[in-house]
Amino acid sequence: MGKKILVIGGVAAGATAAAKARRTDETAEITILEKNGYVSFANCGIPYYIGNVIKSRNSLLLQNAKSLKKRYNIDVYTNTEAIRIDPDKKIVFAKNNRDENLTFNYDKLILCNGAKTIIPQIEGISEIDYFTVRSIEDMDKIKDFIEDHKPESACVIGAGYIGIETSEALMHCGLKVTVVEALPHILPTFSPEVSLKIYEKMSSCGITLKTETKIVKAYKQDNKIILLSEKGESFTTDLLIIATGVKPDVELAKTAGLEIGLAGGVMVNSRMETSVADIYAAGDLVEKKDIITGNYILAPLAGPANREGRVAGCNAAGGNLEYKGTLRTAIVSFENACCAQTGLSHKEAIKYGFDASFTYTEDPNHVEYYPDPKYIFIKLIFDRKTGKILGAEASGENGVERRIDVISTAIFAGLTVYDLGEIDFCYSPPYGAAKDPVNISGLVATNFINGSSLITPQQFLEIYSSELQILDVRTRIEFKSYRVKNARNIYVNDLRESIAELDKNRPVYIYCAVGYRGYVATKLLRSYGFDAYNISGGIEAIKRTAKIKSMEVIDAGNS
Ligand code: NAD
Repeated sequence: MGKKILVIGGVAAGATAAAKARRTDETAEITILEKNGYVSFANCGIPYYIGNVIKSRNSLLLQNAKSLKKRYNIDVYTNTEAIRIDPDKKIVFAKNNRDENLTFNYDKLILCNGAKTIIPQIEGISEIDYFTVRSIEDMDKIKDFIEDHKPESACVIGAGYIGIETSEALMHCGLKVTVVEALPHILPTFSPEVSLKIYEKMSSCGITLKTETKIVKAYKQDNKIILLSEKGESFTTDLLIIATGVKPDVELAKTAGLEIGLAGGVMVNSRMETSVADIYAAGDLVEKKDIITGNYILAPLAGPANREGRVAGCNAAGGNLEYKGTLRTAIVSFENACCAQTGLSHKEAIKYGFDASFTYTEDPNHVEYYPDPKYIFIKLIFDRKTGKILGAEASGENGVERRIDVISTAIFAGLTVYDLGEIDFCYSPPYGAAKDPVNISGLVATNFINGSSLITPQQFLEIYSSELQILDVRTRIEFKSYRVKNARNIYVNDLRESIAELDKNRPVYIYCAVGYRGYVATKLLRSYGFDAYNISGGIEAIKRTAKIKSMEVIDAGNS
């Protein structure tokens, strides 16, 4: 008889671990315990099924107990919750939905029981029927509620990944949606100037967005739910979703005495072994190594969960794989607006002691002369001393995912910003440009490191006043449509002839649309002895930054 491999949890990490264990050892006895009614379902697809983008419920159920038995000879116990582990006797105690107590022996145990939704401290919340978005059961309840009660309004607490995706789904169902977020900006893992793309799209689609709004009280009145914020604002809704984050579900792990890390997840080594012999763990339950810093962090994402499950399953079955860690590469969208990120944010990079800087660039996903180009805004974060790429964030419509994936691969390979300018991209007019947006972000960062006199829009806005010498080097038509207040306009091509118009005794702050013409102008003025600075990302980045700071520095109109 082969070794007994018991897997707790049958979704991303668990189902992958069990399947990999089977591919590693045909003789093992492999069993999955899953507390819900479904295994191997695509929980990332839930919002898209609620919003009727994915039509078939069945398509979310990737495998079931029968198909896992047939293909992989895995025994699946659904509706069976593991309650306690005795690591000395190697027994797991469980209870099923018929209230029967069951015991399972193991030689190797793999914990993949994931994370649980954080329900915030809201007075009265336990008396309210609210929904979370995690399981097929949650999804069915939301669908049924919409069908049976025909709600007109919905409120989503939390503007993170699930909050954004679910608000889109509810909007597709015809509901009037309000999203409330405790922090000052939506999608807090992103910089606000990047997540602005989704914020503006949501607003233009009629979603009411309330940031800096913490819900503290909830009650029912005439079949409606009333929510009260800390500031005293009230919201009335027919349907309430709570999407305020998740945390590792470590109660079961604690019964086996597994070491829990500082971030609150189960600690594992690169073989996904926990601190207790013959117990492995993977997925949202565990802390993962950040590839850049080497620190252990939480990253409840499907990609890492799958890779970790594979490593745990292989090793539990006698193989030898290692998990290198994560860059937390992720993407989220609302309608056609999307934001993606990889690696460290600028704030994190500073916190971890890097000499961190960033540049903004904004370039089309394909050449401008081919119809319908879409601009991609890239914030590239790097170490000024070494050129090491530390992270990137991007927003736009088409092609954002490809650029972030390339930068993620570059970070994984240990490349620098100098290398980014050199990467060969496939190109033809419908697909890209001879100089890809990633090449350009690498070149701009390289120039910055080499002393290109680039300043960030944040630095510019900090010193902004009507006394500054600000130069707009776009065309007259561009300047007339909108410009930075108090800027003067000399088109870059006319700068040599008009140089005498500028005051050489004062610094000149230069911008164009997204940075390139400003760079050319800055080089030119510097060669004539001016103290000139190019503003990173041009007026488009200034506009974003000013919006976030609520600064009125843009003049619009035809004057
Ligand atoms: P999240 O951490 O992404 O967002 C939770 C949000 O709720 C945060 O913005 C937080 O500030 C806010 N919040 C917390 N308490 C609040 C309160 N009392 N009032 C108002 N706002 C409050 O979490 P999530 O959206 O629940 O998603 C869970 C996890 O699932 C995420 O960590 C994410 O990594 C993962 N996920 C990823 C994707 C994707 O990659 N596309 C999609 C869905 C989920």
